[in-house]
Amino acid sequence: MSTEPVPASKGLVLPGDLLGTAEEFVPGLGAYEDGGRVYAALLGHPHIDPQARAISVRALHAVPRLAEGDLVYARVDEIKSAMAILTIVSSAGSNRGVPGAPEGTVHISKARDGYTESLATEFGVGDLVLAKVLQAHPTIKLTTAPPALGVVAARCQSCHALLALGPRGALGCPRCGATESRKIAQGYGELAPGAPGAPAHEHEPPSA
Ligand SMILES: [Zn+2]
Repeated sequence: MSTEPVPASKGLVLPGDLLGTAEEFVPGLGAYEDGGRVYAALLGHPHIDPQARAISVRALHAVPRLAEGDLVYARVDEIKSAMAILTIVSSAGSNRGVPGAPEGTVHISKARDGYTESLATEFGVGDLVLAKVLQAHPTIKLTTAPPALGVVAARCQSCHALLALGPRGALGCPRCGATESRKIAQGYGELAPGAPGAPAHEHEPPSA
């Protein structure tokens, strides 16, 4: 807890940081008054409303929270027999990062429509996937079954290059020539620039 008032125009404040006096400000959301002084109640950015003479603190980790039906980009971390484990890197609608990079799972029955023998032919470790949130709490469950959803950028499992989509829907590695199978999204390779993890922003190591 600091004893000097925090310049409200910038920076982060911690819970208990002094924002000003009760003569200067009314405590808004995320702030409270104690003994004639106004303090931050949250970790966040202070914000002054001059008309209301209110000072509030916008929580650093308040948004966005995932909800059922949200579309997200997620990176495949691990493939097990019955599920794939992914890290959710951003909300696909806004391209905003998801706080805490939470873990999500795709059950083998939700990878694609119809029967799936093995998740190893649907996803690869390191792939970027566009998925829909089926359940947001207490654990995050995802689906990639609809045609628009699935892998949007696949990594070669031999050399980690990005796989290119061939004319007949086959994925081939431009570096080592391997061919692989995935549950690809309709928009494979068309990831919006600026999306976290967008391949366009990655620097491939020079090929040997
Ligand atoms: Zn390769």
